[in-house]
Amino acid sequence: MLRERKVCALLVSLAVFAGPLLLAQKTAAPVTSLRVYLFDCGLIKGENPLEYGLNKGDVKNPDMVVPCYLIVHPKGTLMWDAGVIPDSAFKGDAPATQKDGSDTETSPRPLLPQLAALGYRPETITYIAFSHYHSDHVANANAFAGSTWLVHAAERDAMFAAKPEDQAAYKLLRNSKTIILPNTDYDVFGDGSVIIKSTPGHTPGHQVLALKLPKTGPVLIAGDLWHYAAERTASRPPQDEANQQQTLASRVAMEAYLKQSGAQLWIEHDPETFRRLKKAPAYNE
Ligand SMILES: [Zn+2]
Repeated sequence: MLRERKVCALLVSLAVFAGPLLLAQKTAAPVTSLRVYLFDCGLIKGENPLEYGLNKGDVKNPDMVVPCYLIVHPKGTLMWDAGVIPDSAFKGDAPATQKDGSDTETSPRPLLPQLAALGYRPETITYIAFSHYHSDHVANANAFAGSTWLVHAAERDAMFAAKPEDQAAYKLLRNSKTIILPNTDYDVFGDGSVIIKSTPGHTPGHQVLALKLPKTGPVLIAGDLWHYAAERTASRPPQDEANQQQTLASRVAMEAYLKQSGAQLWIEHDPETFRRLKKAPAYNE
């Protein structure tokens, strides 16, 4: 009797817990053309534009948005940047907040449930890549340790030379299947529509992503090559670059690319860019 009751209770709990789980296991249908989903992965308050080579008054709103991007191609998927707050920091449905020096970082919702709602689980994502390894871009990196990691050697070396506590967010990538990228363009899916470009300076192996979207046209997702649009005309680079001369050279190269390709510039932390783009579950194509 006792056993039957236990079995019964087990079945009830299975039904209660597995119901939503089964719903979350929706699988995304394959796509026939390139698209990019943007997720709201948070907001950073407390930044000082003067630290980015700017003058007082150059920037009206110093807050930085933190998008995460899922690139979906007919041949596979690429997760680009993974947020500022790890999913493990969320309690219930409440937004999460953390302090980083003088900054206050918040995120409205965890990342993985947003992917699941579209039918993607981390283990189904083909590639993981970050513009760079700073903490506001890699918070959920470990979740993608089963994907193939696309990274420059200089970046990977810097990541695993960092203090152990700073490696916590991405330590599982050490054993991931990894493709070390050349210091030239890297064509992710082999058809020229998703290209990773080497733009060192902000970090030793900083990289940006050039997309050829079927309706939007060419787009450059620029990582932290610039944080604020006003930096494009500033004469000084930001203070805390790994190598300021490299940053300036990478900026010159990408300004030339923008001019030659006619690509839209998506500065990742720029609230205005984020505001005008479609956010998941809608997508940009
Ligand atoms: Zn950043």
